[in-house]
Parts: sequence; C-alpha cells; structure tokens
Amino acid sequence: MLYSKLTELYTQLSSTTKRLEKIEILSKFFKKLDEKESYILYLLEGNIYPSYDERKIGISNQLAIKSISKATGTNQKKIQELWRKMGDLGEVSKKLTETKTQRTLASHTLTTIKVLENLRKLPELIGKGTIDKKISLITELLTSASPEEALYLVRTLLGDLRIGVQESTIKYSLLKAFFNDDKEKEPSIQRAIDKTNDLAKVFEISKKSDIKKLDSLELEVGKPIKAMLAQKTISIKQAFKDLGKPLAAEYKYDGFRLLIHKKGDKITLFTRRLENVTKQFPEVERYIQNNLKGKSFILDSEAVGYDKKTKKYTDFQAISQRIRRKHNIKKLEESLPVEINIFDILYYNGKSLLDKPFKERTKLLRKIIKKEPFKIAPSKMIITSSEKEIEKFYKEALKNNQEGIMLKNLDAEYKPGRRVGHMLKLKPNKKDFDLVITGAEWGTGKRKGWLSSFTLSCKKGNKFLEIGKSSTGLKEKKEEGLSYEELTDLLKPHIEEQNERAVKISPKIVVAVTYQDIQKSSNYESGLALRFPRFVALREDKPISEITTLEELEEEFIDQKKENYKYN
Ligand code: AMP
Repeated sequence: MLYSKLTELYTQLSSTTKRLEKIEILSKFFKKLDEKESYILYLLEGNIYPSYDERKIGISNQLAIKSISKATGTNQKKIQELWRKMGDLGEVSKKLTETKTQRTLASHTLTTIKVLENLRKLPELIGKGTIDKKISLITELLTSASPEEALYLVRTLLGDLRIGVQESTIKYSLLKAFFNDDKEKEPSIQRAIDKTNDLAKVFEISKKSDIKKLDSLELEVGKPIKAMLAQKTISIKQAFKDLGKPLAAEYKYDGFRLLIHKKGDKITLFTRRLENVTKQFPEVERYIQNNLKGKSFILDSEAVGYDKKTKKYTDFQAISQRIRRKHNIKKLEESLPVEINIFDILYYNGKSLLDKPFKERTKLLRKIIKKEPFKIAPSKMIITSSEKEIEKFYKEALKNNQEGIMLKNLDAEYKPGRRVGHMLKLKPNKKDFDLVITGAEWGTGKRKGWLSSFTLSCKKGNKFLEIGKSSTGLKEKKEEGLSYEELTDLLKPHIEEQNERAVKISPKIVVAVTYQDIQKSSNYESGLALRFPRFVALREDKPISEITTLEELEEEFIDQKKENYKYN
C-alpha cells in the first residue's frame, strides 16, 4: 500500500473528534484492507510491532530535529524556532517539506512496508555509529515523503500520532466491519485482544468473521498481557455494597508489579508496562523454579523490598532502582532483596484461567506455592463477611508498612488491562500521586547543568494539566537515590522547547510525589495545586496512561475537606 493512502486515513480520522465517525471511517478502511497488510493495525496505534513486543521506535525530539534538518536542508536552530511557534515537530516537518517540494518536485513512492521496514530497524541498532545510522534511516524516508507523509512520519517517530484512535475505537470498527455491528460479538473481540495483545492477528481473524476462532484464541506464555487494575473505594462498608459478601481482602503491597511467565524451564518476568525485566531479578527465577509446581503458568504478583537486618518491609522507593539497573545485579540482589507476593494466576498447564472465578484461581494458586518467607509467598488474604475483621486486617497491613488493602469479588473474572469494579483498593488518603513531568528550569549555582524546579502534571482524558512544581526530595548525589543528574539525563531527550532557562518537556517520565495538602488554585490549568510536593521515586513501571487523573485529585481534595471538617 502506498504510505499516502495511510496518511489520507490519518487525516480523515483527525478531522473529526466524534467517536462514531471515526469508527465509520475505520470500518470502511478495514473492509478494504488486505489481510497481508495487517501490520497497518500496528501503525494505526503508532507501533511497529504488537503491543506485547518490547521493541518500540524510541526516537527523541533531538534526533527527530537532526533528521528533519538533514532531509530538508534546514538548520537545526530554525527547526527549534519553528517548533516553538507551532508546537508540533510533525507540522514543522510538513511545512519544511512543502517548501522543499515546491523547489525540487521530487517524486515520491513511499510504501507502508518501506516505512515499517525502516522503522523496525531503529530499535535494533546498538553500539558505535548508532545515531548516524538512525538519522540516515529516518532521512531516507523523509526525503521521499510528501508534506502530509512527513507530518505523520515524524509524529510516528515521536510516538504521538494525534489521530484520536484508541484500542477500543479499533475494536468497535472491527465489529462494524466484519460482524454487522452485532454488540453481542463485542466481548469476543475484546477477549481476543486481551489474550493476544496483537491487533493484526485479531484483524486477520475478524476479517473472516470467524467468531469461533476468535473465541478459541489462548494466552501464550512468554507474551506479556496487560495487568488488571483496581478502582478505589472509600470504605469497607462501601466495598461490601459493591462487591457483595463474603469478599477477599488482601494486603496491598507497596512494591512493584511483576507478571511471571513460565514455560518448561524458561521464566520471563514483565512489569506492568510489559517490559521484560527477567535479567534484573535472577533470584526470582530461582524462587519460581524451586517453590512452584507446574509445567507452565502465568502469575500476577507484587515484588516487595525488605531490610535484611531488621526484616521490615520497605517502600517502593527503596527498591525502584532494581527495575532499572542492569549492572552489578548480584550486589543489588544482596543489598535490595525482594519478596514475591503472588496474588493471581491467569494460566496453568496449557489452559487460560481468565474466565474462572477468582475464588478458584486463588485456591489453585495457594495449592501450588511452597511458601518461603522473604522469598516467595501467596498474598496475605482473608475471606470474610465481617467489616470488623477487615478493619483489623487493614490496620495490620499498614503496620506492616504496606499501602493498604485490596478487596476482591470472589466470583469475578480476570480482565486484562481494565480498571475493574470488582477489585477495589483501600488506602489512607494523602499518600502519593503518580504524576508526569512536563517542564523544568535549568539550575544555577551548584545545580548548574542540571534541570530543577520540575513542573508536575496530572491527566484529564488525553491532556496533561499542571498541578505543581517541585525539586524537593531529589538527591545531590547519584548514590543517595533519585538525583538531579539522573532525572536530567532521563528528561533531556524529551525536551521540546527551551526559553532561556525554562524548558517544556514531553510527558514521558512518571514520578511518585507526596504532598502536604491540595489547594484550589488559579495558577494552574488543573484548578488545583499541591502544597509542598516532594519527589518519592521514579515510576518507570507505570505507563503514562495510568498516572493520576484530575478526577482522582478532585476526589482527594473533597476527602481532604471532609477530613479537616472532622478534626476541626
Ligand atoms: P494502584 O497502583 O494504586 O492503582 O494500585 C494497583 C496496584 O496495586 C497493582 O498494579 C499492583 O501492583 C498492586 N498490588 C499490591 N498488592 C496487590 C494485591 N494483593 N492484589 C492486586 N494488586 C496488588
């Protein structure tokens, strides 16, 4: 297919904000799309592989600028300037290509497969000369691109297509194109997406309107699936109302999520961002081999840190570096040990358990684990109809340095990637929020060369709204924890714009932040401001889509007002 045909679709899709119109446009496109070109479904989501695959394009703004500069013969400073004015490097690239084509009228014959091939080479490059090789792969595409193609190529490179297509838009378009929009068939498509994490595959089967085949798709061990997420509850009483009696209460561990896959001897560990972190946790591989029965399985768990001497559990912050660090693993294993607390099982010995009720899954789970304190254990759980018992359990969890409790409906299925109403979290107010950094200032004096005074934003729909500024909690030295230097290194590739000392940063890096209280504020677009925000940790395990929403902050603001009323 010509790439211009795909960019035409992008343009059509971005010309409307109405979901139903988008579905109409996409379903027509899907009807005509050949099965052999199913990879287009990846490009529609701005990806080059299925979402279970770790290989992402991963191009920084700076590299995109260099490539545009080379392709259009414009100097980088001019591109920066245009970017500041237009706010979108894709638009900049389009504009510069327009003037270029007027000059040379270069003919172009970009195909989708050529685009995909070049993009797929990007994450494979390592070692010396990588940057130059990347630039030439991108430039090759940009020089044969029309203005419209240049726009979407650059947006694809930067992971921000801006066509307003989500997974659910694709799902409903498939339903309309191949199943007569029969709403009863929607769960089959959803489950197929959940189990495979591969939209091209689901498209190919949907194209044949083969509902049986969709239903028979299975989870595959070794391919990560998206974790199920919890909603918040305000009280135990409310949880009973929502979940019925009895219910399961478990510790809500203050660590990070690990999805554990085992097939024969091969064990793979994934974070909730679907990143493979097996190499970082050799001890977990050992625990799984030694303490769990079964030929193949997928488990959902939380890794929690503890202090070897005091045997007290630590918070997430203390062990967060274990996810990132890829060297000196043995030393880290010693100094920052983790205990694996398993709370769900999604697959066992060749069969998916997603549709089985939670009580069956948890029973099986507890049967196959040999518990070994400070190594591996099933999550601490009680099943009860008594509010009092849960109250006691909640207090005990907090005393044990955990975040709170999870309350679970015993009959519920496991729904990958969904924030479900049958699993509720209860934790004390005012702990922390996961926010994204959208701005900063270059430091002066002893912080010269480092970014500081970071602007923190929450999420509302697809928008990011500022809610505070902070540097507090960051360390001067790398060895002491999350430092200015480390954060600067992480943020630098995402700088969008610079105005003297102030920089605008693409929303990519998520941090956990505590604060004293929330105030109404007209200084920020969000309408709220955090008072005394303080950095707690990097949340590299959290995707941007899961950061704190404005709604959650508003709820917390109301809760805080109620609390104050109680104590005043
Ligand atoms: P939150 O990050 O506040 O939305 O809470 C959801 C997270 O709690 C999950 O992603 C897990 O990493 C974590 N968690 C800790 N303990 C449990 C548990 N017993 N059951 C489910 N999730 C848990």
